[in-house]
Amino acid sequence: MNILHETQVIVIGAGVIGCSIAYHLGVRGMDVAVLDSGNICSGASSANLGLVWVQEKEPSSYMELNMMGVQMHSKMAPKYDEDVGFRMPGGIVLCLTDKDLERSMKTYERLKKDSKSYMACFLNPREVRELEPYVSNKIVGGFYSPHDGHIDPLRLTHQLAVLAKRAGVRFILETKAINILNKDGMVTGLHTGAGDIVAKNVVIAAGTGSSSLANPLGINLPLRFDRGQILVTGAIKQILHHPTEDIRQTVNGNILMGTTHEEAGLDNSTTTDAAVRIATNALNSIPILKDVPILRQFSGIRPMPIDKRPFLGSVKSMEGLYIAVSHSGITLSILHGKVISDLVVDGMTDIPISDYDPERFSKEHSPIDRNNKR
Ligand SMILES: Cc1cc2nc3c(=O)[nH]c(=O)nc-3n(C[C@H](O)[C@H](O)[C@H](O)COP(=O)(O)OP(=O)(O)OC[C@H]3O[C@@H](n4cnc5c(N)ncnc54)[C@H](O)[C@@H]3O)c2cc1C
Repeated sequence: MNILHETQVIVIGAGVIGCSIAYHLGVRGMDVAVLDSGNICSGASSANLGLVWVQEKEPSSYMELNMMGVQMHSKMAPKYDEDVGFRMPGGIVLCLTDKDLERSMKTYERLKKDSKSYMACFLNPREVRELEPYVSNKIVGGFYSPHDGHIDPLRLTHQLAVLAKRAGVRFILETKAINILNKDGMVTGLHTGAGDIVAKNVVIAAGTGSSSLANPLGINLPLRFDRGQILVTGAIKQILHHPTEDIRQTVNGNILMGTTHEEAGLDNSTTTDAAVRIATNALNSIPILKDVPILRQFSGIRPMPIDKRPFLGSVKSMEGLYIAVSHSGITLSILHGKVISDLVVDGMTDIPISDYDPERFSKEHSPIDRNNKR
């Protein structure tokens, strides 16, 4: 057996979630290595809209989890060496048709009824345009929430990696995790393309690559691969003061417009059809964008749990195994880091995660051979 490394915890995935987990474990004194088949921030964390978002997330318990996630970003922000573009001006859901308004109103009423902490409020068209003067005068209304904001996801991920390295975390890049090693119901390490890593704790934070690592252990993580495309304009003077659910202006002045939801497997191509649809939607909301040059178009693949709830927590049937996979991974990155570090170090967390049990789809499946397989 070729031993590549020995450590207390190995985190698979150097996206925003893996880097956050590594940072949180590192500052709590754990010996940690992060493994990635690519590089730091080479998956969905580099190809998203960058919203730190609470509004309209349901059910209310999930909305409250996201609210907690946003508060944790506020606490983390002063620790970064550079500005990661984190801004919390609140966010607006724009309603361009009566049907949109009716749908958003129903969601708003449900969340208000179920959660005292939901602070969103309805805006009439005049109030929307007072907050955002360039919004189309065809708007029929909107909703403002003080809990929403945005961030530069690339800078965030790289800063978390910088802080993790400073806390002693080692990054092993361009090395693929092949399977998790275990004996007698306990994790013993990881078999990789470059040799084995000995570790009593393994965290799967591999985004879209997570199911194929968990499945051989009898843990079913059903994920949809949900492609989203985004258009980016050149930098212009500030015309937007709040992010909306699909348009935001960065601190540098670029406008990001999104986003699609497409079934395309792991194909992250961009398409003309999506560009037309995104641009049309954006112009319906903010007509002044018609004269702004488009700089680029990109796409990413969301790791979307089929019930749209994260897989977050420890695996009861395999001691030393932890899973953290989410389609709201920018918003929830800091929270995921805190939860997993609590579980590894203390064996418990005060954050309510029972709805996000990574084994919730595995229970009905009979356990398969959990012996080491290469
Ligand atoms: C278009 C789009 C818009 C989005 N907008 C938002 C938004 O506004 N707000 C928000 O909160 N979220 C948003 N998301 C979701 C967010 O981007 C993801 O939830 C988040 O990036 C997931 O982070 P991650 O670290 O789990 O995954 P990733 O960033 O994908 O990282 C996983 C890493 O694991 C590595 N890996 C996989 N398999 C293996 C293996 N076998 N061995 C070693 N390494 C492996 C990969 O190389 C990758 O680097 C959006 C996503 C998309 C695509």
